[in-house]
Amino acid sequence: MNILEIIAKKRDKQELTTEEINFFVENYTNGNVTDYQAAALVMAIYINGMNYRETTDLTIAMSKSGEVLDLSELGTVVDKHSTGGIGDKITLILMPIIASMGIPSAKMSGRGLGFTGGTIDKLESIPGYNTSISIQEFINNVKSIGISLMGQTLNLAPADKKLYALRDTISCVDNIPLIASSIMSKKIAAGAEKIVLEVTVGSGAFMKTKENAEVLAQTMIKIGNLAGKETVCVLTNMDQPIGYSVGNSLEVKEAIEALKGNMQEDVKAIILELGSYMIKLAGKGDNLEENRKRIIENIENGKAMQKFKELVQKQCGDVLYIENPEKFEKANYIIPVTSEVEGYVKSMDNENIGHISCMLGAGRIHKEDKINNRVGIIIEKKIGDKVQVGDILGYIHADDQELGNNAKVKLQKSYEITTEYVERPEHILGVID
Ligand code: URA
Repeated sequence: MNILEIIAKKRDKQELTTEEINFFVENYTNGNVTDYQAAALVMAIYINGMNYRETTDLTIAMSKSGEVLDLSELGTVVDKHSTGGIGDKITLILMPIIASMGIPSAKMSGRGLGFTGGTIDKLESIPGYNTSISIQEFINNVKSIGISLMGQTLNLAPADKKLYALRDTISCVDNIPLIASSIMSKKIAAGAEKIVLEVTVGSGAFMKTKENAEVLAQTMIKIGNLAGKETVCVLTNMDQPIGYSVGNSLEVKEAIEALKGNMQEDVKAIILELGSYMIKLAGKGDNLEENRKRIIENIENGKAMQKFKELVQKQCGDVLYIENPEKFEKANYIIPVTSEVEGYVKSMDNENIGHISCMLGAGRIHKEDKINNRVGIIIEKKIGDKVQVGDILGYIHADDQELGNNAKVKLQKSYEITTEYVERPEHILGVID
């Protein structure tokens, strides 16, 4: 068997065997297959697809490419993962809430990919917070305080780590078999028993239509069940940023506000939906309505915020920033973006908003780029909002004036405003289990 034959087979629209997929994953992980050969195969997969059997084989091979954790000593761990979005700070809010109910919260998160942000980049904007702890510390933290959030270790699904970074540089991210195998390989290797997935749909998601999101969800559920992990997918709207901030420390500040009970409608809807399923899967309550009430209760009584502080402290972050978010450094320029017309916000080009945030320095354009924690966007108007001429649509937080002014023009162009009344969108588009 050799890689050239495998690339040629997929290029010619043929099905790959389990052995061929295993061969590719093993040899790409150990460096025998080069990045350019892997890029050719990934592009062929992107164009010609993979059937369900091939997708499952790719998932299993990637999950076994490194260490496979066993978290059973912690009890029933329910993992959570999003297929990616703009302004998605849900993990930062939800995991402490879940931990505050006595449900073990052990989660490995990723960095930004393409135009979407990543939880690890956000957590690292808290001075001192260590996302690269050892697996033993990760497990010990969950044992002692009930929660740990860390980056995917080098040795957890390393094949996915390499492929994920490669796909980002060759425009091959938004593909159902590749996303399903990427997410599920990490989730299987990360050792949780149950999984709740947020599958995002819309202009700021990799899946632009509900139909495609449903296929992605069903693919991941089948793979999860095959691996013996009960999996539930919640489809969420990503036609506009989640909440009001995009950018690392801006989002941490919003998460802190949310844990104090000040949440925008969409953040609240997503937290309640995902959270109520996580509690159910953990075996701590079958009644979803009751679970929602318990979530609100643990925000109002301060237990969720207390858990977040414990997490930050445990992972060496400076808790003073959580207690006093004004301490987070601000960007050099805060530039208002105003509306030139009157009407209702009809749509937002959410992918473009993700690109603006990357351009400002909140995400990476090249793999090796360093993140700027301070910069990003504050969104003041969202779909369905009424605006007058001169109203603030949002604020650009930039460290460079020229970049900031560029971003201002781009953000203005991301808004479509019409004279006709526009309904506010639904936040939860469905649940598949
Ligand atoms: N998140 C992942 O972990 N992988 C993808 O391919 C896309 C989103």
